[in-house]
Amino acid sequence: MTMIGDKLQQVRARIVTACTATGRDPASVRLLAVSKTFPAEAVREARAAGQIAFGENYVQEGVAKIEALADLRGELEWHCIGPLQSNKTRPVAEHFDWVHSIDRLKIAERLSEQRPAHLPPLSVCLQVNVDGGASKSGVPAEEALQLARAVAALPRLRLRGLMAIPEPAPDFEAQRAVFLRAAVLFETLRTAGLELDTLSLGMSADLEAAIAAGSTMVRVGTAVFGTR
Ligand SMILES: *Cc1c(COP(=O)(O)O)cnc(C)c1O
Repeated sequence: MTMIGDKLQQVRARIVTACTATGRDPASVRLLAVSKTFPAEAVREARAAGQIAFGENYVQEGVAKIEALADLRGELEWHCIGPLQSNKTRPVAEHFDWVHSIDRLKIAERLSEQRPAHLPPLSVCLQVNVDGGASKSGVPAEEALQLARAVAALPRLRLRGLMAIPEPAPDFEAQRAVFLRAAVLFETLRTAGLELDTLSLGMSADLEAAIAAGSTMVRVGTAVFGTR
């Protein structure tokens, strides 16, 4: 077993334990391996250990890695999880499968216009600001429903759900409380008729609390690939 293979197994075990602790089916939580700053060869190693979904923060770095791993393209799912500027949307629309960081309509409109016709619709999540941190990106919770309706209407996007990156909290209960705000908003949007299946919450340090709050996708970098 390689080192990355070992760590992947440890993270998968954490996910199973966290699911069991809250009576959830481990199959209801996907692992997104965040490969930012790590080379294409690390992704190749993780793929050999069974990992499919990979997250990248920086557009240029992500596209370079996707191209370096073109031979594996059909076996990999690439997620853009970093903040997006409107002049960087085209390579994202052309190369990625998912975007987690939609926080305004203009970005979504550009991605929809630029998504090539031969590819399936781009899966997207709205990034929501659930802890009110002024410096944080993400749409305020009270504007999320309106943005979700507008994004869901775009022809070349498929709105999948919500993503949040709360400020680090001191303990499990504090982490869970913030994640729960995203989970409540997720249910509100579903009750309003939006067909969402993804709640992208939790990273290396807080994936247990995120799973306890209802996360369906944890984004894990350090615990899989090592410290950056
Ligand atoms: C880097 C990053 C992660 C992974 O963080 P770790 O603490 O290394 O697990 C998850 N989500 C986003 C948006 C990130 O930028």
